[in-house]
Amino acid sequence: MIDIRKDLISSSAHFYHLGLMRGTAGNLSAKKNIDTFWITASGKNKGSLDLNDFVLLDLDGNIVENPDFKNRPSAESSIHQVIYRLFPQACACYHVHSVEATLVSRLTRGDSLMLPPIEMLKGLGIWQEKPNISLALFENLLSLPTLAQSIAERFKDSLPQVPALLIKDHGVTVWADSTQSALTYIEVIEFIFRYILLEAQTPSLFPRSDQVQM
Ligand SMILES: [Zn+2]
Repeated sequence: MIDIRKDLISSSAHFYHLGLMRGTAGNLSAKKNIDTFWITASGKNKGSLDLNDFVLLDLDGNIVENPDFKNRPSAESSIHQVIYRLFPQACACYHVHSVEATLVSRLTRGDSLMLPPIEMLKGLGIWQEKPNISLALFENLLSLPTLAQSIAERFKDSLPQVPALLIKDHGVTVWADSTQSALTYIEVIEFIFRYILLEAQTPSLFPRSDQVQM
């Protein structure tokens, strides 16, 4: 059987080199089976993980297997737990930190960020014409269990439009039915964040219709 940690190691190195997991930032997880998942251990450099740099947790956050007794599960494990509980079809959950994600989270005071109706939205499974899609935004609470609880409560009542959420001043989390799809989602959403920032900086490219000069 393929060890899913190998996918997490290669995804982590990929994100590290894209500048999305600088230092020890971010955390990646993938299901080993229906009720356990491997997650990156806390404090590891994400550019050079090996098979011992993970902890196997159950969906309650209990350690099931730990290749190195010094390992501690990521501090943000409670977010992964709540995602796997809310979306049983999810097999991977990726969370990264980027300058762009942090900046776009400041473009609204609300609890959702409107996503531009651009072609790249198809990469998140949105195939409508002129889609009206927003990304759920959460406060960056110091208490991770409280943050996880707020995610559970919000998504229980209203399903997210895309398999992603953004924590203000912090970073994005995506989930998918495979590690490959989770990697794609991160690349797509980070592209969209860069687009939103550039759009905000170049208003002359987006004139109001009554301002268009022929
Ligand atoms: Zn984080």
